[in-house]
Amino acid sequence: MSLAAAAVAAPSPAPSWAYQIRMAASQGQFLHAVSLFLQMRSSVAPRSSVPASLPAALKSCAALGLGALAASLHALAIRSGAFADRFTANALLNLYAKLPHFHRPFGTDGSGSLESASFESMQKVFDEMLVRDAVSLNTLILGCAENKMHQEALSMVREMWKDGVKPDSFTLSSVLPIFAERADIKRGMVVHGFAVKNGLDNDAFVGSSLIDMYANCTQLDYSMKVFDSFSDCDAILWNSMLAGCAQNGSVEEALGIFRRMRQAGVRPVPVTFSSLLPACGNLALSRLGKQLHAYLIRARFNDNTFISSSLIDMYCKCGNVSIARRVFNGIQSPDIVSWTAMIMGYALHGPATEAFVLFERMELGNVKPNHITFLAVLTACSHAGLVDKGWKYFNIMSDHYGIVPSLEHCAALADTLGRAGELDEAYNFISEMKIKPTSSVWSTLLRACRVHKNTILAEEVAKKIFELEPRSMGSHVILSNMYSASGRWNEAAHLRKSMRNKGIKKEPACSWIEVKNKLHVFVAHDKSHPWYDKIIDAMNVYSEQMIRQGYIPNMEDVLQDIEEEQKRDVLCGHSEKLAIVFGIISTPPGTTIHVMKNLRICVDCHTTTKFISKIVAREIVVRDVNRFHHFKDGNCSCGDFW
Ligand code: ZN
Ligand code: ZN
Repeated sequence: MSLAAAAVAAPSPAPSWAYQIRMAASQGQFLHAVSLFLQMRSSVAPRSSVPASLPAALKSCAALGLGALAASLHALAIRSGAFADRFTANALLNLYAKLPHFHRPFGTDGSGSLESASFESMQKVFDEMLVRDAVSLNTLILGCAENKMHQEALSMVREMWKDGVKPDSFTLSSVLPIFAERADIKRGMVVHGFAVKNGLDNDAFVGSSLIDMYANCTQLDYSMKVFDSFSDCDAILWNSMLAGCAQNGSVEEALGIFRRMRQAGVRPVPVTFSSLLPACGNLALSRLGKQLHAYLIRARFNDNTFISSSLIDMYCKCGNVSIARRVFNGIQSPDIVSWTAMIMGYALHGPATEAFVLFERMELGNVKPNHITFLAVLTACSHAGLVDKGWKYFNIMSDHYGIVPSLEHCAALADTLGRAGELDEAYNFISEMKIKPTSSVWSTLLRACRVHKNTILAEEVAKKIFELEPRSMGSHVILSNMYSASGRWNEAAHLRKSMRNKGIKKEPACSWIEVKNKLHVFVAHDKSHPWYDKIIDAMNVYSEQMIRQGYIPNMEDVLQDIEEEQKRDVLCGHSEKLAIVFGIISTPPGTTIHVMKNLRICVDCHTTTKFISKIVAREIVVRDVNRFHHFKDGNCSCGDFW
């Protein structure tokens, strides 16, 4: 026996082994509890100390993830007869629930998946238990639910009923996330009804599970009702409500909840911000994001890596890469999430080289890239048109890091090939993908065919797209215009006719811009904005200057069966143009313009914006559905490839 152990064991009347082990485990000193248990086993402790201390030892193993030791404790529980004790049995159940990759020492044939093996272990322990109670059932149910064995969890609840054990608040908060995940509001409401009938609805855990469930079923009103039914809210309820608002895109509501939370004197925790910040980034509401950032600095949350990563992500989504970089530089030891957020920022905004430099620095710092990091560098390759680099990352991802490429990774590489004009290689790559390509992967190649004017391949690719998505508006327009451009009028007319027959309509385009804390939304050809006339006047002034500088309207994205004059009108009314010009005439000179668009920016708007950025000497950032465009001095960061 070691000296330390002797010191612990020696003086009498010292607290018993079992007492010390239980104390250590209950105080969260799991390592200490385990080491005490091992010392006890090698000492001359009375036999009775084993059953008395096993539950605490098992709990500690579960907390520390010590699978091998736990297996030997399970064997010990059976040998020593401690298994008959329901506390020990419950602790074992808990262990199997927490360690899904851990097999029980005897039994399981190993043919099933890890999950089912773990479930069998749980089930076996449960079956062998002499005394079952709500705790053991609940542990089993939670274990099933957390390991995504939903059917098993629900059948356990039924079994519970049959055994005459009434589900309690713990049971409900294990089962509700299942209905949340499946967006099964009907059954979720049955559980809610049960909770109300049995007076369990004022439990904070049940309440927060209900809020999550309704929010996941996009019924935020119901979440709010559950939330408001609590007179005294726990931090867990506040955070659930915040996450629910953010997840449903109700950013203003989320910020309202956040204000109320602070007024109520509830201190936010990191998870509070991890739901708030992405919501600000998603609507590109950088003003709100900056307010939160200021709060984070005041409340000294800014040295939390987890929060900093959310900040980086938020700023990148709002188009402020330089601020994101400042936040990143302030992190002492960035983890994989922060590295990835920053690399993704450069991938989307450029400069792409910065993404590669960071990737290398990350690898040198022994941080292992994950599948999102690879998506980021592959995106950088595609936006910068770097074929060799694209292949390099694509290959090391699986060869060196063992990450199986997903549809997104393949799409990014196909895009890289297409942009670089290696159309046949891109076609072969997509055709031979292990995952079935979606229409959006093929659409990338179709756009590349348009840029590189390869009508023959475009026909082939469009055929693939129409098989998968017969009503794809964009693909019909691209192909039809390619036919027109190469003088194949009959085919173009035929395609337009088939579009009309299928009743294909374009998704209405809209762009938005925030000026003086107010969001202005522009829909194409919508004349309702109070400044509409001023915008058109300004637009005409810029047009004259543009034409003098060599601008030629580009109609590629306009269906070519309308009169030329009308076409120019169509271009003029594009929502992004309206938003950009409004931004210029309503802000002081020199202000950077940030515009968001729900669809891809069209060729003509892209050209126009380049001209305008030079004419008015402004930086204009447009975030379309696919990427960011930073316009400056007549150029765009995308290099005219998007
Ligand atoms: Zn346009
Ligand atoms: Zn661009």
